[in-house]
Amino acid sequence: MVDPQLVIEPVYLATVFFFIIGLYRMSNPLTARSGIVWAGAAMLLATVVTFLTPGLGNIGLIGIGIAVGGGLGYLAAKRVAMTDMPQMVAIYNGMGGGAAASISAVELLAGTAANTAVLAVAGGLIGSISFSGSLIAFLKLQGWMRQKPITYSAQQVVNIVVLLLAGFFGALVLTNSGVVPLPVRLFLPLFFLLALLFGLLMTLPIGGADMPVVISLFNALTGLAVAFDGFAIGNYAMIVAGVIVGAAGSLLTLVMARAMNRSIPSVLFGAFGATDEVGGAVTGSLKSIEADDVAVMLAYASKVIIAPGYGMAVAQAQQKVKELSDLLESRGTPVKFAIHPVAGRMPGHMNVLLAEAGVGYEHLFDRDEINPEFTGTDVVLVIGANDVVNPAAHRQGSPLFGMPILDVELAKNVIVLKRGQGRGFAGIENDLFYRDNTRLLYGDAQESVGKIVQALKKL
Ligand code: NDP
Repeated sequence: MVDPQLVIEPVYLATVFFFIIGLYRMSNPLTARSGIVWAGAAMLLATVVTFLTPGLGNIGLIGIGIAVGGGLGYLAAKRVAMTDMPQMVAIYNGMGGGAAASISAVELLAGTAANTAVLAVAGGLIGSISFSGSLIAFLKLQGWMRQKPITYSAQQVVNIVVLLLAGFFGALVLTNSGVVPLPVRLFLPLFFLLALLFGLLMTLPIGGADMPVVISLFNALTGLAVAFDGFAIGNYAMIVAGVIVGAAGSLLTLVMARAMNRSIPSVLFGAFGATDEVGGAVTGSLKSIEADDVAVMLAYASKVIIAPGYGMAVAQAQQKVKELSDLLESRGTPVKFAIHPVAGRMPGHMNVLLAEAGVGYEHLFDRDEINPEFTGTDVVLVIGANDVVNPAAHRQGSPLFGMPILDVELAKNVIVLKRGQGRGFAGIENDLFYRDNTRLLYGDAQESVGKIVQALKKL
C-alpha cells in the first residue's frame, strides 16, 4: 500500500504555492476575487488531505465540527453587511486564535516532547491572547460593549503582571512536559486562563480609531500561533499558512498604523479616546446648502474631486456617485476620487465599493497623490467622510494630531454630504464643517446624490 505521507506531503507543498498565488492576487483589486478562490482551494485541499493522516481518530467528531463551523461561517458571510466587516474579521480571527490554542492544549496534555512543548506553549499563549482580545474587539465594534477605552489606575502594571504570571505557568508546564503529567494538568488551565485574561485586559483600554490596527495585529498573532502549532505537530501547511498570515497581518498593521500616524505602542498603551476631549473649540457656524445649488456649482466647476467615506457605504450611494461622476465627465468636467487608506470600516473599503459600481481604477487616487491637487479645485464633494477629512489632525493637542488626512479644506468649495450632526468613528468634532468655504448638504447620501444628479440633468 502507498505510504499516505507520499500523498500528504506533496499536496501540502502544492497548497503552499496556492496560498502564495492567492495572496499575490489579493494585492490587486482587479485580481483579488480570484486570489480568495486560490487561497480557499488551498485550504480545502489541505483539509481534505489531512484526513489521510495515519491513525487519525474521531473522524465523526471532526466531520461534525467542520459541518457546524463551515455552515455557520457560510451563513454569516452571506448575510454580513459590508459595513459590519471589521467585527466579522475580528470574530473569525478570534476563532483562529482559539483553534490554535486548543491544538496547543491537546499537544501539551498528550505529554509532548520538551522541544515541541516550547512551541506548543508559545502557540497556546499567543493564540489565547488573540482569541480573547479579538472577542473584546468584536463586542466593541458591534456596539455590544462600551467603545471608549476602559481604563483604571496602574492598568499597565496589572497587565504586565498577568502576562508574566501566564509566562511563569507556561514555563512550569514546560519543565514538567512529558515527565510528570499531574502538574501539567494543574498548571495548564492556569496558564491558559491567564493568557486569556491578558488578551482581554490588553484590549479593554483600546478604542476609537485604533481598533482597525488592533484587529490587524491580532490577525498577525493568530497567524504566528498557527505557525508555532504547525511546528509543534509537524504540519507544513499550517506552518506556511500561519507564517503568511502572520507576515501579511504584520505588514497590514504597520501600513494602517502609518496611515493614522500612530505607533504600535501608542495604539496598545495610549488609550486613544479615553477622555471626552473632542479636539478643541470650533469656530464659525454650520451653513447648509440645497442639492439644486450644489448642481449649479458643479455645472460651472472646471475640476471636481470626490472624497468618499463610511457614510457612502452606509447609504450604499456608490452607484449614484458613479452616475454623478459619469454625468460630470460627459459635460467635460474631470472628476477624481480621493481615497484615504482607512476611509470606511475596512482596508480598501472605498476601492471595493467604487469598483463594484464600475468606477475605473484610473479615477482613484490615494492620499499622497491627490493632496497636492485640492488647492485650486473648484468643488470637493465629501460623501459620508468625517475623520479622514478632519483638519483637527493638523492641530497640536488634538487627539487626532498627526493623522494624515485628505486636505479637502484647501479646495475653493467643500460640500459635505451627511445626515445630521453625527461625529466620525473617532468621536472628534470636525471644524471643517464650520469653515467659510464649507456647505453641508443634509440627508442620506444616496438620496442627496440622486437629487444632485436630477438637478444637474436639468441644467
Ligand atoms: P467616519 O466614520 O469618520 O464618518 C462617517 C460620516 O458619515 C459621519 O460624518 C456621518 O455623519 C456620515 N454618515 C453616516 N451615514 C450616512 C448616510 N447614510 N448618508 C450620509 N452620511 C452618512 O468615516 P470616515 O470614512 O471619514 O473615517 C473612517 C473611520 O473609521 C476612521 O476613524 C478609521 O480609523 C475608522 N476605521 C477604519 C477602518 C478601516 O479599515 N478602513 C476599520 C475600522 C474603523 P451623520 O451621522 O451626521 O450622517
